Amino acid sequence: MAKQTVLGVCGLCGVRKTKGAMLNHLKRCLPSSAKGGSMLPLALLRVEGAYAPDFWLDVAAPSNSHLADLDDLLRKVWLECCGHMSEFYVGRYNAIGMEAKISHVFGSASTRIGYIYDWGSSTELTIRSAGFTEGTTKTTKRPIVAARNEPPLLPCDICSLPASSLCSDCQDTGESFFCPSHESGHSCGEERLLPVVNSPRMGVCGYTG
Ligand SMILES: [Zn+2]
Ligand SMILES: [Zn+2]
Ligand SMILES: [Zn+2]
Ligand SMILES: [Zn+2]
Repeated sequence: MAKQTVLGVCGLCGVRKTKGAMLNHLKRCLPSSAKGGSMLPLALLRVEGAYAPDFWLDVAAPSNSHLADLDDLLRKVWLECCGHMSEFYVGRYNAIGMEAKISHVFGSASTRIGYIYDWGSSTELTIRSAGFTEGTTKTTKRPIVAARNEPPLLPCDICSLPASSLCSDCQDTGESFFCPSHESGHSCGEERLLPVVNSPRMGVCGYTG
């Protein structure tokens, strides 16, 4: 897969930034886009695919929200296919309870934890604290996605036009991404294909976005 610079979009003001510049932008953008409502401290979290870091989310989470709220958000935006188990952990899978408060878990800057969705065909994420800022309760009573990567352009392995689906059974064969006109000819059958989606769970289990 050709290396490309994947930009992200700020969900508050729409500006496009590199992955490296987005967090600093959000530290200014979150407080300044507050219009009415009372201000509350927000933890800024960088979430990315542990093995697919081109998929990333910058989450603004109220300090008094809980890991369970973050779990809800990650499932909704990126992961949920059929209600698998999930867990936050530190080190070698030492679980952190879902009831843990964001402010406790990410109290010190540069805290890094792991997250796993589905212990079978797992999708693993890393979540790192990028410090605190503030925002208004009007936008964020619960964790929100403040910014995320733009969908990467993945080429069809046969003709290089943009791919719309992939075959998870063929991911190591070099012929697993297909454009609409090459989907039907795939030997595994069209019903085996999953849509190309903007998520590190693309092509896993029955994930369709
Ligand atoms: Zn912004
Ligand atoms: Zn599933
Ligand atoms: Zn094609
Ligand atoms: Zn296949």
